[in-house]
Amino acid sequence: MATGKRTERSSDRAGALGAYRKKRDFARTREPAGKPARSRRTHLLQFVIQKHAASHLHYDLRLELDGVMRSWAVPKGPSLDPSMKRLAMQVEDHPIEYNTFEGTIPAGEYGGGTVMLWDRGTYRPDEAESGEDPERAVRRGLRDGKLSFTFEGERMRGSFALVRTDRGPKPKWLLIKHRDEHARRGADITEEVQTSVTTGRTMEEIAAESDRVWRSNRGGRAGGEERGTPARGAGDVVIAPMQPKPSRTLPDRGEWTYELWRGGDRILAYVTPDGARLVDGRARDVTKQHRAVADELASLARRAKRSFVLDGELVAHDDGAVLHASDLLLDDTDVLLDEPWEARRAALEKLFRRRRVKHVALQQLGGAADVLLRRAARESAPGLLARRLDAPYEPGTRSAAVLRIARH
Ligand code: MN
Repeated sequence: MATGKRTERSSDRAGALGAYRKKRDFARTREPAGKPARSRRTHLLQFVIQKHAASHLHYDLRLELDGVMRSWAVPKGPSLDPSMKRLAMQVEDHPIEYNTFEGTIPAGEYGGGTVMLWDRGTYRPDEAESGEDPERAVRRGLRDGKLSFTFEGERMRGSFALVRTDRGPKPKWLLIKHRDEHARRGADITEEVQTSVTTGRTMEEIAAESDRVWRSNRGGRAGGEERGTPARGAGDVVIAPMQPKPSRTLPDRGEWTYELWRGGDRILAYVTPDGARLVDGRARDVTKQHRAVADELASLARRAKRSFVLDGELVAHDDGAVLHASDLLLDDTDVLLDEPWEARRAALEKLFRRRRVKHVALQQLGGAADVLLRRAARESAPGLLARRLDAPYEPGTRSAAVLRIARH
């Protein structure tokens, strides 16, 4: 019985590491191929963070789950400052044996470059119920797109969250430090810690020592692991907009609220006191075209003393463009994606309360559907949007929690 179970586990795992193995020639690289999982009923879950100088410098966060290391490439690395939200792109699972790998992957091989063991230790999910298998709690968090966990490492300690902001073949997440005794505002841990957790070597020393070993393996193109990692400015955050579902019928009021759909450009605004970045529905940066809106939003961030991300619709009027803000996704250190729409809306109103912001308007709500439909006709707006009051923001999905109803 136990043997049968183990066999099933290892074949599952071979499947899980398929993407990892396919990309590597193990005759050329010293990276491990991954052996069958040992059966370990109760043990602490391992984590490792590797600093990886590939085509782009990044940090690979790996969390043990189900006999493999679930992996994220974090371009800027982790931060102990709760206000820093770090982009984490999910990449293929790695074998557990990879946790001890430090050295140089030959140029031309996948992920070619120098790898440093930057931190290692154990981690545990914060939201496991009493007596629950911790792996089950981690699995649930990853499936639901929000995992809260605590690092017990040499350099990383305390509670963090991984929050998914975009699904798709390469899901995007944010890595965020929770406020606790290990949080350090303004700290730059990746700047402070430049050496290997196991050998104390710098990247240069690792590269120099490995060079001698791998000199004969030159040639080919540079490896492309996590190529195209966006190196964005303000906020280092990318959230894919939630799209409305077209509908022919209006849902019953009660659970829903209605607003005008103006047919403008969908805009996500990433705003810090230093500036705002406007990204349209096709992921194009349109900040330059709407400088007045961006400047006003940055001014709001300065007055409110915080960064935020809002969702809205940009509409051209006679006297210039106006951003009709409808949703607030990040507010200072709070990630609001999992909050019901009502709570996000309340936070949005609070942000704008008693603050005049030119070129930006709060999307107006409410009213009976027939009144709003007449207004849409009068203003040549294409129709209405209906939002479920209790729905979370689901980045990158076409969600039935927001319906788009055309006037005709
Ligand atoms: Mn990597």
